[in-house]
Amino acid sequence: MFRKSKAEEIGEFFTAPLQMNELSVFYLGVSGFIVRSSDQVVLIDPAGMLKDDEINELKGLGLVLFTHDHIDHFSSGKTQDVLKVTGALVLAEPKVAEKLTGKIPADKLLRAEHSKTYSIGGIAVTAIRGIHRGPIMLYLLKMDDATVFHGGDSGYVNLTDYSSQVAIVPVGRMSPTASPENAYKMVADIKPAVAITMHGSEKQKRQFEAKVKESLPQTTVYIMAPYTAKTVILQKKS
Ligand SMILES: [Zn+2]
Repeated sequence: MFRKSKAEEIGEFFTAPLQMNELSVFYLGVSGFIVRSSDQVVLIDPAGMLKDDEINELKGLGLVLFTHDHIDHFSSGKTQDVLKVTGALVLAEPKVAEKLTGKIPADKLLRAEHSKTYSIGGIAVTAIRGIHRGPIMLYLLKMDDATVFHGGDSGYVNLTDYSSQVAIVPVGRMSPTASPENAYKMVADIKPAVAITMHGSEKQKRQFEAKVKESLPQTTVYIMAPYTAKTVILQKKS
């Protein structure tokens, strides 16, 4: 059997049928994710990971989010390429927005301010200041019936004001601020049904998973390999 190309994997992710109560997540590696609900698609922190033929598969992409300007999260050149193909809007931490100013159309660029909620093509995004070497914004997304949190590679910040069905959290290296313990504390605040790991060594991912299993039995942990997809069935809120 022939192995599918990465571009084909992304193409399939974009076209696979999705129910209203489903959320599909594609992991690029590091902190890079594509999140898809029945009507919306968001790309988060893709850095320079997407090749040209993969970018061509990003049909229907409406929004790109950047948590901060570190090279494993953000690439100016690749963002320009993504915008050329998709015409998506970019919501970015202000230092990232500054680097994109003049490089992408001004009407496609929004600067994320702490605790503000942005309504973009049917998606509501709340920006939350994180803690890192340099400024970082974390995002809480509401897309169709789904809520998703993305923690960049932040250390722990108090998130008890927020809740989300899915939380994507950084569990450790190469981030100097992320750790299994910090990721666990974020998840304990947010109380998601599903927690997905990013960053971190295999050992740190297992440590995080064990801690969640022990103390937060209502949360299921997914440890995703790069270039794999996962569909989450969302529970109706009672
Ligand atoms: Zn970083």
